Amino acid sequence: HLVASLEVEETYIMVKPDGVQRGLVGEIISRFERKGFKMTGLKLFQCPKELAEEHYKDLSAKPFFPKLIDYITSGPVVCMAWEGVGVVVSARKLIGATNPLQAEPGTIRGDLAVQTGRNVVHGSDSSENGKREIALWFKEGELCQWTPAQAPWLQ
Ligand code: ADP
Ligand code: MG
Repeated sequence: HLVASLEVEETYIMVKPDGVQRGLVGEIISRFERKGFKMTGLKLFQCPKELAEEHYKDLSAKPFFPKLIDYITSGPVVCMAWEGVGVVVSARKLIGATNPLQAEPGTIRGDLAVQTGRNVVHGSDSSENGKREIALWFKEGELCQWTPAQAPWLQ
């Protein structure tokens, strides 16, 4: 089991094209908001093939890689940056296992998906990849630093 960090971190969360097509954007954003994390970036975006290949470059040798790139570029995605203490591991827990049939009920994939190749959402797997992916998907001026007025302890 992964243990959430005590550091303030950032992670890249993305509603994949199937999540957008199925009208699950609000539901997915809501789960991270209700948990208590802070959104620092959000946009609807049609991903070019080159960006999808760069994002998933560690999987380029896998047999499913071409299908994965077709899937991620098949329609608009919702790109998000989220910040908070332990957000990287916590977001992965909220998302659930890669194969939705193995994801626990209560997780996003466990509640909302059945196929590994259509598992509705992405979350960075480490703090380093969180930074890398946010830099890859967002331009400088697209991110906002802000303090929630109702809950300044969220930072
Ligand atoms: P995760 O998204 O849970 O971090 P991985 O990084 O291992 O999972 O894989 C990235 C994405 O590639 C998965 O979310 C899924 O969309 C796709 N994928 C992974 N394994 C398979 C597979 N065996 N067949 C089809 N697609 C896969
Ligand atoms: Mg991954």
